[in-house]
Amino acid sequence: MNPALKAELTQALRARRVSLRFPPQLEKLFNQHVAPQRAKAALFSGGFGLILYVAFLVVDWLVVPDVFQLALVLRLAVITPLGLLTIYLVSRHMARLVALFGPSFADWTAAVSGLAAGGTLLVLLLSSHSPRAYFYHAGLMVVLLYACLVQSTRFKVAVVTVSGILLMHLVAALFAPPVPEATKWPMLDMILFAMGVSLMANYLAEKRHRRRYLLGLQDQLILSELKEAQEELQSLSRSDALTGLANRRHFDEHLQHAWARASLDGQALSMLMVDVDHFKAYNDFYGHQAGDACLKAVAQALLASTRRPDDLAARLGGEEFGVLLQNTDPDSARATATRVCDAVAALRLPHARSSTTEWVTVSVGVVTVRAEARPAGPQDMLSRADEALYDAKREGRNRVKEGVA
Ligand code: GH3
Ligand code: MG
Ligand code: MG
Repeated sequence: MNPALKAELTQALRARRVSLRFPPQLEKLFNQHVAPQRAKAALFSGGFGLILYVAFLVVDWLVVPDVFQLALVLRLAVITPLGLLTIYLVSRHMARLVALFGPSFADWTAAVSGLAAGGTLLVLLLSSHSPRAYFYHAGLMVVLLYACLVQSTRFKVAVVTVSGILLMHLVAALFAPPVPEATKWPMLDMILFAMGVSLMANYLAEKRHRRRYLLGLQDQLILSELKEAQEELQSLSRSDALTGLANRRHFDEHLQHAWARASLDGQALSMLMVDVDHFKAYNDFYGHQAGDACLKAVAQALLASTRRPDDLAARLGGEEFGVLLQNTDPDSARATATRVCDAVAALRLPHARSSTTEWVTVSVGVVTVRAEARPAGPQDMLSRADEALYDAKREGRNRVKEGVA
């Protein structure tokens, strides 16, 4: 998660009330997440709504029998084909339509279908002379509840739907056959209440939805941060803080694995033991900080001298390094050891207190074993590399010495 988005999420979570519009990046992400799921829900409730819409013919027959033919035409020949076409288009081209009309596309489709159903009632109401026609005002309520609640549109879309239905109701009140005085006000009251309830339900549903989304996103964030921290911890516990090379623990683990593999496939395993010459004197003369910088430079030279991806260079402690070379015969191991020696000398790090050269140098002990051929284990290999290193020191430093295999 990028830092800006994270800041927006923290801000949105901290806000006392969930807003119906998140900060820009978060809103975009929310819409991307919600749009397909909304479109699917709208398709389902749209299809079901269409069935109910056709079934409403029963009410037409009972309430406005004088315009039943018109009801048949409107419901079966006009709106149903349009509804089916919309469902087909939305199901086939959902992604393209969302890209074209924005993330609220599904909600607007739901609103338009609700208004079309309301419009049907209005036309029938205006055309009918049935004494029971006024009953249709209650039908508008059903449409309203379906369009806003079953389709669960966004609040802003619900406001438009509710306003449209209210307008239809007013037009009907003005131009349709008069409503009996006794039912006029109770009916208007009921419609207004239904509108209020529906808007409130929409508002609360959207708030809940958004809050749930924020909490889900927060869970995701916590999980990914936890994973990152875990990875960092793991790498810290396996690497040396000063040089960034593998640490002693990692080296030992790797040696165990490499030994086991070499025992299985019979390949040669080589190890270099590298120690900086006269490093105590270097530290004493140049200071501890310069000593650390020198160790880092040596570590880089070591890395640069190892070539294969499964070679492992580690700092074993103090100014001592180890390199493990899998599937490497004595010649190649000696060549690598010489490269290490030359690379450090080539750094030309001045060492005024060295009795070997004017530069910082290293001594290298190298040993190659065939794990399957010998009963001894990795510890034995380590001590033989150490002995070879000791020999290199004794013979004058700044050199490679091979241990007995
Ligand atoms: P030789 O050529 O025989 O290896 O001599 P040496 O002085 O390099 O060996 P010795 O073991 O006597 O000294 C090692 C020194 O390394 C001692 C200590 O001051 C220094 N040292 C060990 N760890 C660190 C470290 O992390 N940073 C620094 N700057 N110095 C360290
Ligand atoms: Mg040393
Ligand atoms: Mg040492």
